[in-house]
Amino acid sequence: GIQSVPFPVPYFHRCLVWLKSRVARTLDVEAAVKAAKNAFPIWSSKSPLERSQILNKLADLIEHDLEAFAQADVMLNIEMGGYGPNFYRLNSCLLWFCSVAGLISPWNLPLYLLTWKIAPAIACGNTVVAKPSEMTSVTAWMMCKLLEKAGVPHGVVNVVFGMGTKAGEALVCHPDVPLISFTGSTLTAQRITEKSAPHCKRLSLELGGKNPAIIFDDADLAQCIPTTLRSSFANQGEICLCTSRIFVQRGIYSEFLKRFVAEAKKWKVGNPSDPTVDKAQAEGARVLCGEGVDSLALPAGNRKGYFMLPTVIAEVKDESCCMQEEIFGPVTCVVAFDTEEEVIERANSVKYGLAATVWSSNVGRVHRVAKRLQSGLVWTNCWLVRDLNLPFGGMKASGVGREGAKDSYEVLVSHKLLHIPQ
Ligand code: NAD
Repeated sequence: GIQSVPFPVPYFHRCLVWLKSRVARTLDVEAAVKAAKNAFPIWSSKSPLERSQILNKLADLIEHDLEAFAQADVMLNIEMGGYGPNFYRLNSCLLWFCSVAGLISPWNLPLYLLTWKIAPAIACGNTVVAKPSEMTSVTAWMMCKLLEKAGVPHGVVNVVFGMGTKAGEALVCHPDVPLISFTGSTLTAQRITEKSAPHCKRLSLELGGKNPAIIFDDADLAQCIPTTLRSSFANQGEICLCTSRIFVQRGIYSEFLKRFVAEAKKWKVGNPSDPTVDKAQAEGARVLCGEGVDSLALPAGNRKGYFMLPTVIAEVKDESCCMQEEIFGPVTCVVAFDTEEEVIERANSVKYGLAATVWSSNVGRVHRVAKRLQSGLVWTNCWLVRDLNLPFGGMKASGVGREGAKDSYEVLVSHKLLHIPQ
């Protein structure tokens, strides 16, 4: 939905960050890596308790300034109207990893995804160079000031503000950075994999999705419809875990579609011309609500922004672009299916494998389907139930490796065997 809040960060700060993001490149990365290397012996020799105390202090400071962070995020994130999931969880990242122990993050949920990487990395005793997205850097910059206040020693966390192809790539290619933890698009991950290959770097890759919701005719629609609306349109569909392919069993297809579209039309939003929607129509699909169908009524303050209505597309072919490619916006496709066997095959027929949702009151069926879905996460009769303790990550083109308490630890530490003869 549309958020209209006063902008707390002075405009010149925004310009400063924008300008800096255009100039930071190899030399900045070189200096950041040097600072991280110098700080490593001191930081890694601190006890886990000392490190956790500093992280707790940082969490407290962010909590104290939470409203300012949230407002900066809302105003600066292109097309980001909501800040619910971002701020709901970012502090739990910091707190979570406090007792345990290098980094490129995307523009959506910027501070949450940055802290999700920084906190476990430094808790383990690493020092880091982090590169937030050039499109949403301000909250990272605000956090840098708090790092110092929290007592994080100089050089432990180094944030480089720059373009992906410059600062990001310099980090990926730097011989003294043995590990890259990346969250972002599959396309960028392919490039990072190629560029880091000559250095044999350890990679953790959290990437895009084309997530299915499978709705059987015994599903509780009173619960399923509001949850599937949220899973399709929350944060404007700009969460990697959002649903974008809804498979509905034929017996309830018409009823589902009618109720789903009626509810989607109640969401309040705006008006860009998204080429993928034109593409859907060209491919024979029917746009039932949203772009090109309904008109927009934006508040005056939002008319210069980029807004799009929740858009529902039906009768779209599985092999079409809208069903195969990640749109990363408030667009979802609804199609009918007949059998369990058929829907598993169709749900798996994309290159991605991040998250899936299964709706049924038959527990045996839920287990059978979940087991066969090629997906890093499967939610049954719910969506976005997250516990930072549990492994998070995708299959196929949605990622390599898992992050989460124990899983991040495994990515971020190197085991060493020491043999001492008696
Ligand atoms: P993006 O791949 O364009 O950029 C991500 C980051 O990589 C940015 O900081 C960018 O500057 C940097 N980058 C770009 N080119 C680079 C290069 N050649 N070398 C090194 N770094 C480079 O992604 P985005 O548009 O910022 O984010 C949206 C994508 O992220 C979507 O695909 C979404 O699904 C995915 N995402 C995944 C998760 C997850 O946990 N699986 C979470 C959030 C977002």
